[in-house]
Amino acid sequence: MSKYDVIIIGAGPAGAFAAYKLAKNGYKVLLLEKKKIPRDKPCGGWITNKVLEYLEWNPSDLDDIVLEPIYSGVLWLKEDDKYNDYSVRFNNPISYGILRSEFDEKIVRKAESAGADTLDKSPVIDILISKEKVVVNNNHGREFESRILIGADGTYSTVAKKTGIRDRWKPDELTLCCVSETKLGKDKNKKMTDYFRAPELFFNLKSKGYSWYYTKGDYLNIGTGIRMALHSNNYTLKQQFNDFLDTLREINHYNGEDLAPIKGHSYAVFNGPYKYQTFKRRVFLIGDAAGFATNLTGEGIRPAIISADLVSKTIKEILITSEKEIILKKIFKKYETRWKKALGIEYTFGDISQNFYTPNLFPIFKTLIRTDKVFRKLFFKMCFNVGNPRTIIRKMLLRSPALALKLANQGFRSLVSSLLGRI
Ligand SMILES: Cc1cc2nc3c(=O)[nH]c(=O)nc-3n(C[C@H](O)[C@H](O)[C@H](O)COP(=O)(O)OP(=O)(O)OC[C@H]3O[C@@H](n4cnc5c(N)ncnc54)[C@H](O)[C@@H]3O)c2cc1C
Repeated sequence: MSKYDVIIIGAGPAGAFAAYKLAKNGYKVLLLEKKKIPRDKPCGGWITNKVLEYLEWNPSDLDDIVLEPIYSGVLWLKEDDKYNDYSVRFNNPISYGILRSEFDEKIVRKAESAGADTLDKSPVIDILISKEKVVVNNNHGREFESRILIGADGTYSTVAKKTGIRDRWKPDELTLCCVSETKLGKDKNKKMTDYFRAPELFFNLKSKGYSWYYTKGDYLNIGTGIRMALHSNNYTLKQQFNDFLDTLREINHYNGEDLAPIKGHSYAVFNGPYKYQTFKRRVFLIGDAAGFATNLTGEGIRPAIISADLVSKTIKEILITSEKEIILKKIFKKYETRWKKALGIEYTFGDISQNFYTPNLFPIFKTLIRTDKVFRKLFFKMCFNVGNPRTIIRKMLLRSPALALKLANQGFRSLVSSLLGRI
């Protein structure tokens, strides 16, 4: 049986980056991936600046994978039966457009260069945890042993289930998304919209859903998301996608071009504070496996990378400690403290931002986007993770007492007070 310090299951951004961090520190690491690498992942394919900082990549390291830098964002709002566009431009790139197959593979290769072993086409089907070690079985009947296990195996994590850290997500915790990414060619893409290389966003109040239209390099990425609990026979994700195509026709962004088949996936996004375990004796969950996509915007790659960084720090501390239970317990707990500090604030304030798009608040939100350029810029700063989310939301509420008051009356009184003082 092959023995490792750490086995990581899932070679998405979370798993691959954790493998890199640990291998770079001299640990013996195995990265097991169900699919063949490079593997695709349904995604908008937009990464914010923090992702590059964590990956220690300069924009010049990205020539092989970045399709376009992003300087602006656009929000389309339906007013008096007509769609109007509201955009904001930043002076420097605030995000980058990538293809997931290329981006994720680049991190895997980085991990391999640092010394990690990778095994693709290797779904893990069983996990046994004992006091001293973890034993993992893949579907080819091979067994691997390690001191620590990381579950980076995405939303429907086998690790979470097999180790009993968490059961399935509840339907109201999942956002179901689908996307079609079509290679149209850059010239054609530039003719499709006045906002080439900017993500264009839309909200669908009927389904509490959202959609995006994003021209990046040669690719046109069209996607839509809906809360799983609201997905029903009466209104499905597919219908929302088709309705969105009608909207795009209406604003002359789509004229019946052949689109690549739509692909679906989902991720967990919470209402209310995060309430699940993310570790248990020798096992950690990171990225989507832990449900770390932020409910501020649905961005999942940055939280995946950040949690990988934090888990690696924690594991380093474990592996240099003599394995006394009492000490280990304390160190394992540090992971939770760390991710709550780094990401917790987004889940708290994400709850507020989700309410902007409810029937009660949306009219005020729309007016602010239309009439208040400062508010609009703050909204896009929130979307692109430019600055501290708490500060941004505070500034947004300061611009509109009506919005703050409605939020307070909608169950967020203490949160709003924590931002603005007693109201
Ligand atoms: C349609 C859509 C659009 C999105 N757009 C964006 C965006 O533009 N920007 C952004 O930041 N986020 C976006 N997200 C969220 C983002 O895709 C995820 O948050 C991100 O992929 C999480 O990374 P991860 O490494 O945790 O998981 P994943 O990327 O899901 O990787 C998990 C890996 O584990 C593997 N695996 C699963 N089970 C096993 C097993 N049993 N054994 C071995 N391997 C296994 C899978 O094959 C997969 O490769 C989007 C999500 C969706 C659904």
